Amino acid sequence: MKKIKLKNCNKEFTIGKIVCIGRNYLEHIKELGNEISEKPVIFLKPSSALIFSGEKILHPTFSENMHHEIELVLLIGNRIKNASLQEAEESIIGYAVGLDMTLRDLQDKLKSKGHPWTIAKCFDTSAVVSEFISKEDYQITLEEKISLKVNDVIKQDEKLNLMMFKPAEIVEYLSTFMTLEEGDLIFTGTPKGVGKVVRGDKLVGSIDNIGRLEVTVE
Ligand code: MG
Repeated sequence: MKKIKLKNCNKEFTIGKIVCIGRNYLEHIKELGNEISEKPVIFLKPSSALIFSGEKILHPTFSENMHHEIELVLLIGNRIKNASLQEAEESIIGYAVGLDMTLRDLQDKLKSKGHPWTIAKCFDTSAVVSEFISKEDYQITLEEKISLKVNDVIKQDEKLNLMMFKPAEIVEYLSTFMTLEEGDLIFTGTPKGVGKVVRGDKLVGSIDNIGRLEVTVE
């Protein structure tokens, strides 16, 4: 069981499920040649995939094309089901910056067959998070910049307000399909600029006023 602490808060949270949103930034949809979706695209990662800033991403041997996806991550603080937009907003109690590592070669093959993407997204170390900041300490505006550098070269650099579905809307929508519980994490999708990483690469991600993560690929 993996646990996280909120900055300036003594409470520990046991990580539950990790829910991810795909295709949430228009320019990223275009760069992968995907269709725009009227509703958020949802998939899951197991909690066993989670690592923290400072740890290492282990490149799976069964892929030749692992991509970085830098994302805003939400921490859920209470159990909700069929939430209103306001209840959804209130259930978000913390934020972090995260990486949704993706095996693009496997994902492309699965997509072409209409199969689930799970094995392209679920591998050990495929979900990276920074420290979490409490909503009590920082009110997000979505004017913050989200960025990722690979070996000191900027690859992804956009404002959070380019998200098509905003955090509370995502949570409201998810809660119509599944109960969300304390300790669940939600990855909210990546802006344009995704690309391949190889062993030895150093990844540094950040969101203004929210957090920073640093990992190497091994
Ligand atoms: Mg993603």
